[in-house]
Amino acid sequence: MPSQSIKPKGHALFPNLLSPINIGTARIRNRMMMGSMHTRVETTDRFHEREIAYYLARANANIGLIVSGGLAPNDEGLMELDSLKLTRDADLGYQRELCSAIAGTGVPFFAQILHAGRYAKFDGCVGASEIPSPINRRKPRRLETSEVWRTVDDYVRAAEIAQEVGFVGIEVMGSEGYFINQFLSPRTNDRDDEFGGDWARRMRLPVEIIRAIRKSMGRDFPIMYRISALELVEGGMTQAEILELAQALEAEGVDCLNSGIGWHEARVPTVAYVTPRAAWAEATAAIKARVKIPVIASNRINDPVVAENLIASGKCDLVSLSRQMLADAEFAAKVEAGTPEAINTCIACNQACLDMIFRLKPSTCLVNPRALREIEFPTGKATRRKRVAVVGAGAAGMTCAFEAAARGHDVTLYEKSGQLGGLLQLARNVPDKSEFDELIRYLSYRVKADGVTLKLNARPSAAELRGFDEIVIATGVRPRLPELPGVNHPKVAGYEEILAGARKAGAKVAILGAGGIGFDVAEYLLDEGRREPDAQAFLAEHGIHIASDLRGGFDRATRVDHKPTRKITMLQRTPGKMGRTLSITTDWIKRERLERAQVETIAGATYERIDDAGLHILLDGKPRLIEADTIILCTGQDSERGLAAELDRAGIKYTAIGGAHVAAELDAMRAIDEATRLAVGF
Ligand code: SF4
Repeated sequence: MPSQSIKPKGHALFPNLLSPINIGTARIRNRMMMGSMHTRVETTDRFHEREIAYYLARANANIGLIVSGGLAPNDEGLMELDSLKLTRDADLGYQRELCSAIAGTGVPFFAQILHAGRYAKFDGCVGASEIPSPINRRKPRRLETSEVWRTVDDYVRAAEIAQEVGFVGIEVMGSEGYFINQFLSPRTNDRDDEFGGDWARRMRLPVEIIRAIRKSMGRDFPIMYRISALELVEGGMTQAEILELAQALEAEGVDCLNSGIGWHEARVPTVAYVTPRAAWAEATAAIKARVKIPVIASNRINDPVVAENLIASGKCDLVSLSRQMLADAEFAAKVEAGTPEAINTCIACNQACLDMIFRLKPSTCLVNPRALREIEFPTGKATRRKRVAVVGAGAAGMTCAFEAAARGHDVTLYEKSGQLGGLLQLARNVPDKSEFDELIRYLSYRVKADGVTLKLNARPSAAELRGFDEIVIATGVRPRLPELPGVNHPKVAGYEEILAGARKAGAKVAILGAGGIGFDVAEYLLDEGRREPDAQAFLAEHGIHIASDLRGGFDRATRVDHKPTRKITMLQRTPGKMGRTLSITTDWIKRERLERAQVETIAGATYERIDDAGLHILLDGKPRLIEADTIILCTGQDSERGLAAELDRAGIKYTAIGGAHVAAELDAMRAIDEATRLAVGF
C-alpha cells in the first residue's frame, strides 16, 4: 500500500479534531483554526517580512484555517490611526503579498473586518451612541442613520477588496464590544431609529451587513461572523437575544459562527490563567444547538485532548487557537503526528503577548521567543560541534541545553537537585498556575528528545568544567535576606519554604514584599492546596450564569467571595499602588482577588523589627504592630553565582543567563529568550 494512504498516528488519537470540514466553499483540512490576533508587528514594526514568516510557519505546519488581524472597513473604524484597512485608498501591497504567500500553502486565509467603534484610540471615534467606554476616555460621535447605512456599504466594499487582494473568505467581527456589538447592546445603544430602540432594531446592523455582503459577493464567498456568545458586561445581550441573532445571521447566509467571549471592558478574566480551560464552551454549545452551520469555540483552548472532547461531545465543530499558535507554530502538525507530548503549551500568562500589545510593543511569546521573531533565529545545524556544559536545570538552563543540542552540539546539563524545573516547581503550586506543569513537561521532553546528557544531583566543580568549549551558568537565584532586627526569628519563613509546602503558615500572616512572588504567596495562602482553576468555582466567583436570561450573562451581586481562613497582611516599602510591576492584563485580577478575600495591603511601610509579637513598622511616621504568627520574606533575590565565582578564580570563561545573570524580579520570559538566543549562537 502506498505510504501516503496511511494516516498519521494523530488520526487515531484525535479523530474529530483531524476530520475535514467545509466553511461555505472553503475546505478546511482539520478543525483547528488560527484565530485573529493583533500582534503590532503589522503596525508598530511595519516589518512585513517578519509577519509573513510568522504566518507561513503556521500554515506550513498544517493549521486548518487562518484569520488575519483586524482590518478596518473605513477610516472611522480604525483601531489606531496607523492600523491596516481594506479601503480603496489603502496601500494593499502588503495584503496581496501576504495572501499570495499563504495561498502557496493551500491553507484558507480569511480577512477579519473589524470596526473598532468606541474602542478606537484616536479623537473622532464613532459609535451607536455618545456613551464612552470605561476603557477609553474618548467620547464617541453618534453616527447619523444615513452614516450607519454608509458604514454597511463600507463593509461590503471591504469584503470585495478582501477577495480582490487574495483572501479566501472573511470574518466579520461582531463581538468583544466593538462597533457592531455596540449596536446590539442596550448598554451602548440608546438610539431610537432604524438601528436602535428595541431588540429587532438593535440587531438590524449585523443582519444588514451580512445581507449586503452576501448579495454583493454571491453564494461562493465564505463569510464567518464572530458572534458575542457571552457578553459579561452589565446591560449586554441576553442569551435569548444571542441565539436569535445567530439564527438570523444563518438565515442571511453566514457560513460559520465563531464565538467571541466578553467585551474588552468586562471585569471578568476571559483568557488569563485563572480562567479554566474551555470555560466558555457552554455558551458556544447553546449557539450550536440552534443553527446548522459550523460553530467555533474559542478562548483558553490550548490542549488537543480538550479540543477533541469539545468536538466529540457536540459542543462545537472547530476550535479557535490564538495564543496557542504563538506558543507553538507546529501545534497542528504535532496533533496530526500524534505527538501531543511535543507541544509547547500556552500557559495563559499574557506576559509576552497581550501585555506587550498594551505597552504598544510587538508581541511574542514567553514560552516561544521565536514567535513573530522567526527570521531572527538560524535554523539547521552549527558548522562545528562543540562540547557544551549547562549548569542549572530551571527554565533558562533547560532551554539553553536543548536549543544547543538541537543545533548539533554535545550538551551536558547539570542540576544540583533531583528534579528539573527550578523555580517553575514553586510557581506551579500557586492556585490556578497549574499550566506551569505544561511548561515543565515541554522543557523536560525537549531535554530528552534533543539528546541532552542529564546529570541530576550533580554540582560540577570548576575543574570538571574546564574541558568544555562553552560553559553556561544558569544557577538561578537565592532569596535575599533583608537587614532587619529579628529577621532570624522562628516566625520568619522564606517564600520558597511556603510555596514548596515545606513550612505551614499560621493563622495570622505578614508578607513582606508585594512583587510577583508576594502576590503568589498571598494567593497560595488563601487557597492552599488548590492548583488548577475550578470551573464551577470560577463561574461563581465572577457571578457568571451562562444559560440564563440575565443581561450580559452575569450579575455582580451574585458573586461568591472566597472565605479567608487566615488574616493576611501584605506590605511593601514603596508608596503607591501594590503590584505595579505585575502584568498589565492580569494585575487587576490579582489585586481584586486579594481585596475580596480581605487581605490587608500596606504600602509605604518602614520595617522596624520582628519579635514575638509580630512585625513592627512605621507608617506615616507612626509605629504600628502587625500581629503575625508567620512573617514571610518576599524581599527580592540575589543571583546564585557561587560556581561562577569559582570559574572566575580559575580563569575559565563562561556565560551567565537567567536569574544567575540578573536576579531582579523572576522573569521566565527574559530567561527563556536569553537562553535561546545564546544557544543558537554556539
Ligand atoms: Fe500564551 Fe504567555 Fe505565550 Fe501569551 S506569552 S502566547 S499567554 S504563553
